[in-house]
Amino acid sequence: MITYLAKLGELTLKGSNLHEFERLLYKNTKDCLKHSETQAAVTVRAGRLYIECEEGQCKNVEQVLSHLLGITGWARALTCNKDIDEIKKTVRFAAENAKKIRECKSFKIEARRADKNFPLNSYEIACKAASAIFDDDFMTVDVHNPDLKIFVEVREKCYIYTDAQTGCRGLPVGCSGKGLLLLSGGLDSPVAGYRLMRRGMKIECVYFHSYPYTSIEAQQKVESLAAQISKYGIQTYLNIIPFTDVQMKIKEKAPQEWTTLMLRVCMMKVSNMLANRVHADAIVTGESLGQVASQTIENMNVTEHFAEYPLLRPLVGLDKEEIMETAHFISTYETSILPYEDCCVLFSPRHPILRGRIEDAEKIYEQLGVDELIKESYEKRDVKHFVFGKEV
Ligand code: ATP
Ligand code: MG
Repeated sequence: MITYLAKLGELTLKGSNLHEFERLLYKNTKDCLKHSETQAAVTVRAGRLYIECEEGQCKNVEQVLSHLLGITGWARALTCNKDIDEIKKTVRFAAENAKKIRECKSFKIEARRADKNFPLNSYEIACKAASAIFDDDFMTVDVHNPDLKIFVEVREKCYIYTDAQTGCRGLPVGCSGKGLLLLSGGLDSPVAGYRLMRRGMKIECVYFHSYPYTSIEAQQKVESLAAQISKYGIQTYLNIIPFTDVQMKIKEKAPQEWTTLMLRVCMMKVSNMLANRVHADAIVTGESLGQVASQTIENMNVTEHFAEYPLLRPLVGLDKEEIMETAHFISTYETSILPYEDCCVLFSPRHPILRGRIEDAEKIYEQLGVDELIKESYEKRDVKHFVFGKEV
């Protein structure tokens, strides 16, 4: 049997809520394993998550751990009894294994005695364990900059591991309500969704498309982004709204410099209906202050004015570099940079308004007479369901 050990991060700070969070993390882990057809046993105990499985399931388990929100790090561990000779033997074995994979000339032991009944303290454990390695010039000790760190944790058993992976951190999905994410094919919105999932928010998505002005490929791109973020959120729905008629109406009736902003306003109108329908607590966008004309503070205020739910913009203070970094980390970057345009680009005016006023926006929206078309587009939506990376 293989054992994986993961550290619960911020969770452990949650005082009396701790058990609730632990239960949620346990449930989320079980769900991800189930959806990825992985057989493994899960336990959460005293600040640690344990997964046990057969060798053949390891790849899947690692896939789950690397997308699981609420853990700061994880590793495949060796286990042994709480006996210092066994610990020494296992530490030696771990060092030999690591040396087979990569060059390791120096090491450091990091010991932790969670079981205070164990007769040796952390420092003594570290010293004894180290003696099993440096005794025969196999490796030298370097406590500042070791090639290899060996972790020894004495708990109900003893867990020994070397290459710890960084986890996604954050809170387990499901502890912070639900957000309706406006998901376009760009770089920003998937990152915005991920940022809030990481704060525990469940995410449901909505995409507005204007076929044939936007291509099938543009929609497929959004579907694969929804699939990708569902690995972090365990599952998500993508509501696809046919928006061509609304967009044509805007083009026909709105002053040219207002078309992009009116499109945003109409998206908000549909999002209000959807948020109500799916019991969302907030609407989420990938807007970032000053990034494009529609994202000046004035124009963002116009959009917000039409939102009937709190409008969350987790990227508001980030620049493109920072957003791209996260897009790489969550593997949405390559999909997002595919060239298919989303609907905003084709209808963008040459000189969009930079400082729209709410009073003007209200009047212009009124003149569009687009309420009926908006309702129709909402009713004609298509819904796709994605579970841990796959459409079901
Ligand atoms: P992104 O990279 O997320 O596409 P962007 O930099 O292209 O953002 P805009 O096109 O101005 O910026 O869009 C701002 C936000 O509005 C997006 O992050 C997204 O949340 C929402 N949005 C824009 N177009 C669509 C669309 N076709 N469907 C759903 N949401 C959209
Ligand atoms: Mg976009």
